[in-house]
Amino acid sequence: MRYSALAILRQVLNGHRGWGPAWRDPEPQSDYDFIVIGGGGHGLATAYYLAKEHNAARVAVLEKGWIGGGNVGRNTTIIRANYLLDGNQPFYELSLKLWENLEQDLNYNAMVSQRGILNLCHTDAQRDAYRRRGNAMMFTGSGAELLDADGVRAMYPFLNFDDARYPILGGLLHRRGGTARHDGVAWGYARAADQRGVDIIQNCEVTGFRIENGKVKGVETTRGYIGAKKVGVAVAGSSGRVMAHAGLRLPIESHVLQAFVSEGLKPVLDGVITYGAGHFYISQSDKGGLVFGGDIDGYNTYAQRGNLPVVEDVVEGGMSLMPMIGRARLLRMWGGVMDMSMDGSPFIDHTGIDGLYFNGGWCYGGFKATPASGFCFAHLMATDRPHGVATAYRLDRFRTGRMIDERGAGAQPNLH
Ligand SMILES: Cc1cc2nc3c(=O)[nH]c(=O)nc-3n(C[C@H](O)[C@H](O)[C@H](O)COP(=O)(O)OP(=O)(O)OC[C@H]3O[C@@H](n4cnc5c(N)ncnc54)[C@H](O)[C@@H]3O)c2cc1C
Repeated sequence: MRYSALAILRQVLNGHRGWGPAWRDPEPQSDYDFIVIGGGGHGLATAYYLAKEHNAARVAVLEKGWIGGGNVGRNTTIIRANYLLDGNQPFYELSLKLWENLEQDLNYNAMVSQRGILNLCHTDAQRDAYRRRGNAMMFTGSGAELLDADGVRAMYPFLNFDDARYPILGGLLHRRGGTARHDGVAWGYARAADQRGVDIIQNCEVTGFRIENGKVKGVETTRGYIGAKKVGVAVAGSSGRVMAHAGLRLPIESHVLQAFVSEGLKPVLDGVITYGAGHFYISQSDKGGLVFGGDIDGYNTYAQRGNLPVVEDVVEGGMSLMPMIGRARLLRMWGGVMDMSMDGSPFIDHTGIDGLYFNGGWCYGGFKATPASGFCFAHLMATDRPHGVATAYRLDRFRTGRMIDERGAGAQPNLH
């Protein structure tokens, strides 16, 4: 069924009895041309673009839990293309272009909202760095505007301008950035991929790879062995564990990142703001909750829950940026496991095992990358060549000295 205003009207008249499931629940077949491991945003997008762009007919997504249960349904929903480095910015600009047409393409309301992102600066050096970054964004057509303090005050008069330890000097405004409904993106890709014949198999954990003479033959799962010509791994925070089944060690550490939502409030914040003097970012959901987050928990873990010191750190950031947040009550919070790479940038690459490909290392910025990640990973899996905007995302870049270190933080995953 195509979703449309007319379809809703028909269902209203029909007492909403005609809505079918959004995707099938098939039994796994004995083998496929392409298996994508991980039913998060990246895995589902990969399967969708394999079917759509490369006419792949026999594709399966294997998901150990349920669609949208991983980070794709746990993030703070920010999408943007405001990077500095050549290896990154064209990729994220492609992603933003795909976001801009995503709902029409998928025929699904993913609530993509280009409400703008404002990165605040609090020192002269930070303003210079933002000016440089803004120029890089303009080279790729992403658009950027540098605001002074009055420009910021005109947009958000309630920020802490007068009494701040780190005064707001201005900000870098990225009007095409914004938010999208996180789990809606997973559902939209799942539905559209299913309509193109992709089998989405939930409750199917991959427990091993069958590799013969350096070539992948298939995967062992909790629902039995499934053969495949090509296998792509897109399991985000579980990357280290899953690739260990193939005998590979990755330049990745897993950490937990927490997100927070306040009770519903009247509209107060119509864009996304990031605080430049601490690590804090905030937006307001369409239901009215203030959605915010900050640093990852510094230790390695696979647990999807965090600790109180980071909660304290995040709310301190919020209080120093917009003190009125202290009047709001926190409604809920949760954690997700991040695949933090050593330079803060991701991987979309072959593994050295014939037919086995890897997508990961998205750190805590992979939601915005979802469309381009799927697009480029599908391209790599189908053609065995990297897509033009993803040539830098190689697994061997630490050996060859071609790191993509946006922050200049070095091999410190918790600082990226
Ligand atoms: C709190 C938080 C806030 C964030 N905020 C933002 C943000 O504002 N903007 C942004 O761009 N990014 C953000 N991110 C990061 C972003 O969510 C992730 O980088 C991205 O979602 C990861 O890709 P994914 O969607 O494919 O991951 P996931 O949804 O985690 O998908 C991976 C899937 O693999 C499955 N899996 C794991 N092991 C196996 C196995 N053995 N067999 C089968 N399946 C398996 C998992 O169950 C999971 O469903 C945030 C993340 C968190 C946790």
